[in-house]
Amino acid sequence: MSWETKNTYSKSNDVEKCTNCGATYEVDVPAQGGHMESEEYFCPECSKGYSTRASMSPRVTLITGRTDGKTDRYDNTEWLKNRGYNQ
Ligand SMILES: [Zn+2]
Repeated sequence: MSWETKNTYSKSNDVEKCTNCGATYEVDVPAQGGHMESEEYFCPECSKGYSTRASMSPRVTLITGRTDGKTDRYDNTEWLKNRGYNQ
């Protein structure tokens, strides 16, 4: 992961809250260094999938844990299917 140590370009670090479980996490989006395309990332607590425009897969760092009191994992099957992933 050389981009982690070598990069000096600007990128956006967004703090987001999972709409499924309430966890908050920072999404480190590489904004340059390649052409932008839709990249998936997943909630570190419940694995709910999200997407953003980035040049490579965003890195997600958990800030606070989930608040829904559950331990289940989100079912991304329909979401992935809608994004063109056939399983
Ligand atoms: Zn979540």
